[in-house]
Amino acid sequence: MNRTRLQPGDTIGILGGGQLGRMLALAAARLGLQCLVFAPEPDSPAFQVTAEPIIAAYDDHDALRAFAGRIRAATYEFENVPAETVAFLEKLVPVRPGSKALGIAQDRINEKQLAREIGAMTADFADIPSEDALRKMLPQIGLPAILKTRRFGYDGKGQVRISSEAESASAYAAMRGQPAILERMVAFQSEISVIAARDINGTFAAFDVTENEHRNGILHRSIAPARIKPNAAAEAIDIARRLGEAMDYIGVFAVEFFAEDFSRREVIRVNEIAPRVHNSGHWTQDGAATSQFEQHIRAVAGWPLGATTMRASGAEMINLIGEDALAWQNLVAEPGAYLHLYGKAEVRAGRKMGHVNRLLAKRP
Ligand code: AMP
Repeated sequence: MNRTRLQPGDTIGILGGGQLGRMLALAAARLGLQCLVFAPEPDSPAFQVTAEPIIAAYDDHDALRAFAGRIRAATYEFENVPAETVAFLEKLVPVRPGSKALGIAQDRINEKQLAREIGAMTADFADIPSEDALRKMLPQIGLPAILKTRRFGYDGKGQVRISSEAESASAYAAMRGQPAILERMVAFQSEISVIAARDINGTFAAFDVTENEHRNGILHRSIAPARIKPNAAAEAIDIARRLGEAMDYIGVFAVEFFAEDFSRREVIRVNEIAPRVHNSGHWTQDGAATSQFEQHIRAVAGWPLGATTMRASGAEMINLIGEDALAWQNLVAEPGAYLHLYGKAEVRAGRKMGHVNRLLAKRP
């Protein structure tokens, strides 16, 4: 494993220029590190906070080579960055996390298989390469079920719920010919996530487990600590530790789980792994000793991880989606509300425009 350690003044390259890249660059700046952001979209939010935009396609090898020449380490802020781009960069400069983690997290089947290999539970699932496979597997997996594209899904996109066998054809058509995964619907009590990190020496740290509420497939609110039993929280963190180890991970990652309440003992099932900072970890910016963004930058720089302790009994994060962001004047006037806006010029329905964090005097 490459042990390159950056010095203050060194430059980290970030693939992807969305709000996660922007908040990573802001965290890096506080530590005296520079960031160069590489993204194809000229209006990327991260370009507003970095000195010079690198606007190029992810398969532009000349641009990638020039980028690598100007940075000491690279990372990415979204998992749909082409694996080939990361493999190309990796030959020139340390990329943290590396292509192994990306290859697992880009594919829902790989993710679930790894989860099972390390001894965690998942929803029952089946690989669906064809409509025939769907007809055959539906009775085995059981109803209700959910069909998702194996790759490139986010915020509930590329998924359809199936409540009867008659819906097979239309559900398969919605995958538009892409390889899919069929999952049994989990009757969860809550959705939780672990935001964890590993440094270049394999030291592991996790924040308090977060509880997440979605609306229309998009994260609406996160609270920490999650309202689950202490042994379920400890198990979730331990699963994240084992997943991080299995992926040789360097940096921050998120593991999303479904928590089922079987009264005496909660059962948790891994749903997804995100090889990056995660929306459900935004509360750490104001609610933890180290934010997830700083934590990731520390790991990418080869520095030790920061403390993950909470700064209050509880914390919450609410996403500002589309027109929610118009409430900024009230939020900025509210004592104790920490407003974060992403600098996106156009308000669009379903678009993540910002978020607000609040500390809670009591445990949720
Ligand atoms: P995902 O893209 O896998 O995170 O799915 C988006 C959301 O759909 C999740 O946060 C859940 O609320 C819901 N969902 C996805 N898969 C399942 C499942 N197997 N059982 C129940 N709900 C699910």
